[in-house]
Amino acid sequence: MVVDKAYKIATIGSHSALQILKGAKDEGFSTIVVVTKGREKPYQQFRVADKIITIDSYDDFESVQDELLKENAIIIPHASFISYMDIDRIEKLRVPYFGNKKILKWESDRVIEKTWLEKAGLKLPRLFNDPKDIDTPVIVKFHGAGGGKGYFLAKNYKDFKKKIKLHPNSKKYVMQEYILGVHMYAHYFHSPLTGETELMGFDKRYESNVDSLGRISARDQMALPKEKVDPSYVIVGNIPIVVRESFLPRFIKMGEEVVRISKELVPGGLFGPFCLENIMTPDEGIYTFEISARIVAGTNPYVNGSPYTWLRYDEPMSTGRRIAREIKLAIQQNKLNKLLM
Ligand code: AMP
Repeated sequence: MVVDKAYKIATIGSHSALQILKGAKDEGFSTIVVVTKGREKPYQQFRVADKIITIDSYDDFESVQDELLKENAIIIPHASFISYMDIDRIEKLRVPYFGNKKILKWESDRVIEKTWLEKAGLKLPRLFNDPKDIDTPVIVKFHGAGGGKGYFLAKNYKDFKKKIKLHPNSKKYVMQEYILGVHMYAHYFHSPLTGETELMGFDKRYESNVDSLGRISARDQMALPKEKVDPSYVIVGNIPIVVRESFLPRFIKMGEEVVRISKELVPGGLFGPFCLENIMTPDEGIYTFEISARIVAGTNPYVNGSPYTWLRYDEPMSTGRRIAREIKLAIQQNKLNKLLM
């Protein structure tokens, strides 16, 4: 296939940039990575970036806009991009952006996100507005960049009152029913060109210290200082998973329904990569506690494709490469406007 060499693929150097840039190169694009000083090494060492633009801080990202426009770059967003930039700044970007900016608001606000997912027929953990209403164990999650640090479990109001005192400066948090089960994060890609929602793979997160607490007995936990055994959910990596095959029809339908409802919420709806963050219970319940409306780091183990993309494509197809493939097809069909919203 002939690629329009005029377009380049750009992203911020973090999160899933290696995969995004490698996928873009595999599809024949030139690539650009924008990094803060000192973070260049991986993009040099792994040979994925044709050009590295260094800035002092992501607060300065707008200062490279003219350069990116001159390069004819298309920005691929990922979680770090969205958290460094925030939604207001992203909405004002002049450089073409892969994805639908209007959907960002729906994934960033837990209350409206809940409306979306429930309309799509997904089962969600209950949300509590008032700690006095806690009648089942809850996980208390703080907003912001802490990445799961300080989250705590509370079994009732009294327990909540005691534990929240340890976080006097944390104003914003949600209280969600704690679901005991295993993680199953499902990755999808919705193509506006074919209308299909493809299941790309699954992962679970590796979180410190909660993933190590089970390695010591309850007796030993009791012997340790409290702050050492209080769980935290700081993500340090991702582990690939293959799901029991009989669950696949449910997962495929969940992805399709989320896309279908998104089109009722915002013009153009959700497209490109997204992830449903699920917990599966022993009675085969699938609870979705979050949606990420863009590429997730859980796709990073699959730089060379997942078992599912291998079944479908018969060639290595990471999510990063799938994005580039979609852009390439859209250029060829003169439909790029369908992808840059
Ligand atoms: P989040 O910040 O929502 O991505 O949550 C971070 C981590 O907290 C997850 O990866 C889970 O380990 C855990 N977690 C979040 N919500 C729940 C829940 N409702 N029930 C059980 N564990 C949860």
